[in-house]
Formats: sequence, structure tokens, C-alpha cells
Amino acid sequence: MILLDGKKASAIVQETIAKEVSSIKKQGKRPPHLVAILVGKNGASVTYVNNKVTACERVGFNSSIIELPENVTQDELLKKIKELNEDNNIDGFIVQLPLPKHINEQEVLLSINPDKDADGFHPTNFGRMALGLESFIPATPYGILELLTQYQIPTEGKNVVVIGRSDIVGKPISILLSQKPWNATVTLTHSRTHNLTDYTKKADIIIAAIGIPNFLKAEMIKDGVVIIDVGITRVEDSSSKKGFRIVGDVDFENVKEKTSHITPVPGGVGPMTIAMLLKNTLNAYIRNQKR
Ligand code: NAD
Repeated sequence: MILLDGKKASAIVQETIAKEVSSIKKQGKRPPHLVAILVGKNGASVTYVNNKVTACERVGFNSSIIELPENVTQDELLKKIKELNEDNNIDGFIVQLPLPKHINEQEVLLSINPDKDADGFHPTNFGRMALGLESFIPATPYGILELLTQYQIPTEGKNVVVIGRSDIVGKPISILLSQKPWNATVTLTHSRTHNLTDYTKKADIIIAAIGIPNFLKAEMIKDGVVIIDVGITRVEDSSSKKGFRIVGDVDFENVKEKTSHITPVPGGVGPMTIAMLLKNTLNAYIRNQKR
């Protein structure tokens, strides 16, 4: 079994970006600038945003967080987004999800200028991605592709089973892997799939993105499968300083020896997501400079 080390693979991507930023700065230009909008104080969201900002600083980007209160109105949020859309010194921005219930997430995502949509969630970018045109690819699927590439895992003609059909992971990674140059045969499964094991047992590669700790068991997979575990669930753990630990969708301890490659949680897909958000921001900067 080979561990797909997301920390290592992410560091490789970040080193390349840092070199590019250093050369940009040497030319006397300003570095890329990513802004994160954080609404409320959801613990996981605060951690994610802080991790993203720290990563920006590590590669030499400018970055800032706009913190808005939990009870911010949708209009106020849309006004902030409009300001960012029009500010030429901001190359990309993200609105950390989930948003409070009184805010319509779709309307918010639609209001983001697709050229600054570093998360790649805008329908224009999703549509372009689905058509195989140049676009911002959502960071998590992009990170999975980068991990498969760095570890030279062949996908052409392989049986890929994706579990979970979210707009940000399951759907886009299914579309991407079925396209050139990945050329996989993809099955997208979800909560209404009958007899899931019939599919997972035949899979050469399984991508689990459901958010149910330890869901994928050893008896559901064949020997030699490649497993990408996207799940991140906080599970109470009094022995940990934080009071919780992070658990993936895969029953890692019982599954790992049956696999040829597997991502750990944490330290697998999570760090890749951050690296690819930086890559999207750098791409947004390059586009912005051309305008
Ligand atoms: P989601 O939470 O929006 O949806 C869950 C999906 O799982 C749904 O499509 C549902 O149909 C499917 N599902 C639920 N129960 C199922 C079952 N019994 N069998 C088959 N499918 C089932 O999905 P999401 O936003 O992609 O999040 C999934 C997990 O991935 C969460 O734990 C989330 O925290 C994590 N995540 C991690 C990263 C990362 O960077 N590592 C990024 C995004 C999401």
C-alpha cells in the first residue's frame, strides 16, 4: 500500500507557485491577492479560512479576510461582493460556505465575477469545465487530479466510482475524470443508489465524498483499489486537545492493506484543496494582468 501524501504533493505545488510569485515581485509588480469572505464564526469555517490565508502568505500572495456577522443581510453581502468584483487589486475571492440559512447561497455564488471565482463554483466556470474549456476548476477536484498525476496513477479506461454528488466535489470530479486526458469510465453514486457495494467492488479507483465517518468498509472494495477519501468530519474526542478529531469517509485502518494507494485523513485531499485554490488565484492574477 502506498500512502498518497497530500502534504508532500501540496508542498510541491506551493513551491512552484512561490517561485512564480518571487519572479513577479522581482519585476516590481504586486503579487496576487486573494480575499476570503467569512460570515459568522462557524468553527470549521474559521479554521479553513485561516488555513487558506496562511497558505497565501507562505507563497507570497497578499491575502485578507472580510469578516461579516452571522446576521449580515443578503443585500449587505452582495454589496461587499460587488465591491470586490470591481476592485482591480483583488484577483480572486471566495465566500466560505456554508452561509447562514437566511442567505441564498446560489444567488451569492451567481453574483461573483466568474473571472475572480477562485473556488470555481460559478455556473459559468462549472459550465466551461463541463465543456472542457478553460475555467477555474473547483479546488478539491483539481487537487484530486493533481494527486493522481503526481503519483502517476493511470486513469485511462479505469473503472472510477465516485460516492457523493455534491456540486463542489462529486459532480465535478465525475465530469473531469470522464473527459480527456483522464479518460476514465465513471459511475457517480449517491444516497439513492441501490446496492452501492455492487459498484464499489468493481472499482479500480474510488472517490468518497459523503461526510459519513468510516463509511467505506473493507468488504465493499476489491484488492488493489486506489482510494481517495475526501470526507472531513469532526468527531468528539476528549483525548485530543481540541476536543475533536478529523475522520474521513473511509474505514482507513481496515481498508488500507487491501488498497494499492490510499489518502490519509487528515493529510490527504485537504492540503491539496488549499494548494489548488492558490493555483486558481495565480491563474486569476495572470488573467487580471492581461486585461
Ligand atoms: P455534501 O455534504 O454536500 O453531500 C453529501 C453527498 O453524499 C450527497 O451527494 C449524498 O447523495 C451522498 N451520500 C450521503 N449518504 C450516502 C450514502 N449512504 N451512500 C452514498 N452516497 C451518500 O458533499 P460534499 O460537500 O462533497 O462533502 C462531503 C464530505 O467531503 C464532507 O465530509 C466534507 O466536509 C468533505 N469535503 C472535504 C473537502 C476537502 O478539502 N478535503 C472539500 C469539500 C468537502
